[in-house]
Amino acid sequence: MILLTRKADFSSAHFYWHDAWTEAENVRVFGKCANRQGHGHNYTLEVTVAGSVDPTSGFVVDLKQLKDILEREVVSVYDHRHLNYEVPEFATTIPTTENIAIVIGKTLEESWTAEFGAAGARLIGIHVQETDRNGFDLVIGAANSERDATVSASFASVTD
Ligand SMILES: [Zn+2]
Repeated sequence: MILLTRKADFSSAHFYWHDAWTEAENVRVFGKCANRQGHGHNYTLEVTVAGSVDPTSGFVVDLKQLKDILEREVVSVYDHRHLNYEVPEFATTIPTTENIAIVIGKTLEESWTAEFGAAGARLIGIHVQETDRNGFDLVIGAANSERDATVSASFASVTD
């Protein structure tokens, strides 16, 4: 089995805000990230797939096809957008990087079998790097049926 990882980049704005909380509660929990004018990040997405090498092509997956899917499903939707206002999934879900990883994973899974076939390479992981210090991994198909994002940040801080 080979693991293959493809990267893509997007730059987006967001802010953190929970509607059921007062402004003071939002500021207490989210700090500077609660500023509703938003702020931006240059995100790096890494998508990891696992599969066997096709004996004819020598590929695990067609990289051009994978590149096109990431462009269509993620980059064209997220890049130079305000996530809270312009990406429907984040109208009600706070666009933390944990949630960005979960939404991207769900989106890619929905079209995965149609793109690559049931016997093709499997989608196994999503990594979203938010800053130099904060990166988040979504493990797809983990034993826990909940889609848990795991935080690999060395200095987790909502203000970074
Ligand atoms: Zn941020």
